[in-house]
Amino acid sequence: MRKFVESELAPHALEWEDEGHFPDWVFKRLGDLGYLGVHYPVEYGGQGGDWGHAIVLAEELARCGSAGVGMAVAVQAEMATPPILKFGTEEQKQRYLVPAIRGEKILCLAITEPNAGSDVAAIETVARRHGDGFVINGRKMFITNGARAHACVLVTRTDKSAGHEGFSLFVVDTDLPGFSVSRELDKLGMRSSDTAELVLDDVRVSSDALLGSEGRGFVEIMWELQGERLIGVAGSVAGAWLVFERTLAYAKERHAFGQPIGSFQAIRHRFAEMATELEGARQLCYDTALSWEKGEYPVAQISMAKLYAGLVVNRVMNACLQIFGGSGYASETGVERAWRDARLLRIGAGADEIMREVIAKTMGL
Ligand SMILES: Cc1cc2nc3c(=O)[nH]c(=O)nc-3n(C[C@H](O)[C@H](O)[C@H](O)COP(=O)(O)OP(=O)(O)OC[C@H]3O[C@@H](n4cnc5c(N)ncnc54)[C@H](O)[C@@H]3O)c2cc1C
Repeated sequence: MRKFVESELAPHALEWEDEGHFPDWVFKRLGDLGYLGVHYPVEYGGQGGDWGHAIVLAEELARCGSAGVGMAVAVQAEMATPPILKFGTEEQKQRYLVPAIRGEKILCLAITEPNAGSDVAAIETVARRHGDGFVINGRKMFITNGARAHACVLVTRTDKSAGHEGFSLFVVDTDLPGFSVSRELDKLGMRSSDTAELVLDDVRVSSDALLGSEGRGFVEIMWELQGERLIGVAGSVAGAWLVFERTLAYAKERHAFGQPIGSFQAIRHRFAEMATELEGARQLCYDTALSWEKGEYPVAQISMAKLYAGLVVNRVMNACLQIFGGSGYASETGVERAWRDARLLRIGAGADEIMREVIAKTMGL
């Protein structure tokens, strides 16, 4: 995997950052190599592995040097497809999961809306029963892979009066009449992945587009978010380790006042702290992944891992940029890019504040 990432992806990182997206062939190539289904059952084209393999994939993709690639692949392999495996019908698995694992169909996951991000229960996209199917209306915001996806896993409301029991998931083809990409968003980091706003205007689907059970969508998407958070942590911590290692090498070579900058106590101690914090974040991620793999549902621990990793990774990136000095600020070293990319971990898939809320709730507060 490392050889593949370093020889086939990393050489293009800069070009893809500039273009604002990486090409679709990356999905197909990853699919051909078996990397889009590392822990999916062999009967659906997966590798039959476990969560350890998914963590390795996220960590190795960080070596690409463009975090947007790892994020888009994670959306495909760890965010949009898990609900199809867990809640989907056999027909949905054959139609969406199998081609997604092969890299032939690109998928996105659409939860967020213009008026509902952290507060998932505030979503306004409605799926209304119509004949033997549904008509869907609404807007989805900040959707990774949204501009190029062939299918979308969508969170909707099917019964506004039913509170948390009124949500349902759907998996819909994006070429249906009424489904459109209204715009692509420019953004601070993760620039090689596309981020779109989607509009659903009277999109008619048959009842076999319903994913999972009608009315269970809220619980189902909360389950999905746990794995999503964990995989985001694994990739981001691995990315921070890479920047740390490069900064360490630089600090040993770069001289000021007649000595390597890494030998100044202020900097030496910063490295010691960074390594300690990064190792803490990595071990928390591994330990949590192990519980998840065993079938436990460690919501508080996943939220702690995401909160802690977000804080640590951003502290580390900031310190590394500082240690690189002017070279850190210049684009050519790639440190400023990593620093920009890292910022998302504290916002996406549940911001720091939401992680604190989840953790505090498990304490009865
Ligand atoms: C690059 C990128 C890619 C993304 N990809 C996807 C995707 O593929 N699919 C998808 O569905 N979404 C995606 N998102 C959306 C992302 O998950 C949301 O941006 C995130 O959940 C935060 O929602 P919001 O932006 O609406 O912020 P808001 O919910 O409006 O929050 C704004 C601020 O208020 C704070 N806040 C909110 N509630 C509380 C509270 N109770 N207590 C204290 N503070 C609070 C938040 O923490 C935040 O700091 C993506 C976002 C980005 C930037």
